[in-house]
Amino acid sequence: PSVTKEAAQLYILWVTFQVLLYVALPDFCHKFLPGYVGGVQEGAVTPAGVVNKYEINGLQAWLITHLVWLANSHFLSWFSPTIIFDNWIPLLWCANGLGYAVSTFAMIKGYFFPTCAEDCKFTGNFFYNYMMGVEFNPRIGKWFDFKLFFNGRPGIVAWTLINLSFAAKQRELHGQVTNAMVLVNVLQAIYVLDFFWNEAWYLKTIDICHDHFGWYLGWGDCVWLPYLYTLQGLYLVYHPVQLSTPYAAGVLLLGLLGYYIFRMANHQKDLFRRTDGRCLIWGRKPKVIECVYTSADGQKHHSKLLVSGFWGVARHLNYTGDLMGSLAYCLACGGGHLLPYFYVVYMAILLTHRCLRDEHRCANKYGRDWERYTAAVPHRLLPGV
Ligand code: NDP
Repeated sequence: PSVTKEAAQLYILWVTFQVLLYVALPDFCHKFLPGYVGGVQEGAVTPAGVVNKYEINGLQAWLITHLVWLANSHFLSWFSPTIIFDNWIPLLWCANGLGYAVSTFAMIKGYFFPTCAEDCKFTGNFFYNYMMGVEFNPRIGKWFDFKLFFNGRPGIVAWTLINLSFAAKQRELHGQVTNAMVLVNVLQAIYVLDFFWNEAWYLKTIDICHDHFGWYLGWGDCVWLPYLYTLQGLYLVYHPVQLSTPYAAGVLLLGLLGYYIFRMANHQKDLFRRTDGRCLIWGRKPKVIECVYTSADGQKHHSKLLVSGFWGVARHLNYTGDLMGSLAYCLACGGGHLLPYFYVVYMAILLTHRCLRDEHRCANKYGRDWERYTAAVPHRLLPGV
């Protein structure tokens, strides 16, 4: 199906709503949710020495959006809960329009009016520049940060709504929502909520700290993420799978265990770095490798690598946990077709590539200290393999 007027209006409304929630509504969740870090937060130091400030209000945007969705489904009836499914391919055109527009705009902006010229990266290869980005942290005005906005919203806020719309369609077509559909909705909702609960932590991940903003992030966030991360729910609309209770329980356990490893590994590193190693990991003082590195301006800096907890078992157990969760979403669709397994195959490629990219960067950054870490923790994703 080609693009329709209804889909275009819907998409414009969606993106405008998310922009408004992002720029016009300062975070209030951190004022009443204990333990939640929101409001104005600082990012990492960029290579040019800039420390950007971010308005962390993704959880609030997610909550408001879902409250509107639920209010509509139960009382208001402004639109059908199957609206996303019903416009799925026409919306794909719109998402592509935004994905290419934002990547092209970011490229032009990088060349002609960058936010921070010292942080731009020009490789001399036009296609590489377009794909991997020129500007590090493109912004419009003081607060509209392209990376934070496009990475989290509109794609990740939409993820759970897309799944809800698929569940509504399954019920409309087949008279029930199967336990497989419930599992996919619940496990992916945990992952999405985790992302927004930890949005401030996200400022310290590779996407924000190291990647430049180009097609890889811009188009990836607008199109790849909402369309391909949700394939399981889409599959279940056409092939309603009802799992046996022991199988469903096994999938749930795998998903929760994966999530636990993913979250705890990320939490341990975050805690360790925030407290400069003055913390307890698995009840003990952490083992540390002290590192020295030199930045581009010739200055020497000190850093620490954690060798305890999950970071002492393997060097990227956070990725392993993520992969276990990904496998659980796919297993929830049963064994009838390969298509819903796309996600775990893709995540395995993404995270293996990311693991290699990251290790290459760390080896360059820390030199012999990184070798000491790889000698102390020889395995990347699986202990013993
Ligand atoms: P990490 O959180 O693993 O960060 C890697 C960085 O951590 C390294 O560059 C290094 O940075 C530092 N580091 C490495 N080893 C140690 C150590 N032993 N002790 C202390 N610091 C260390 O990677 P990402 O940012 O890629 O991923 C964050 C999470 O997001 C992961 O759990 C991943 O699974 C998830 N993710 C999910 C995606 C999805 O599409 N669903 C996509 C991408 C990520 P430094 O220079 O500071 O030393």
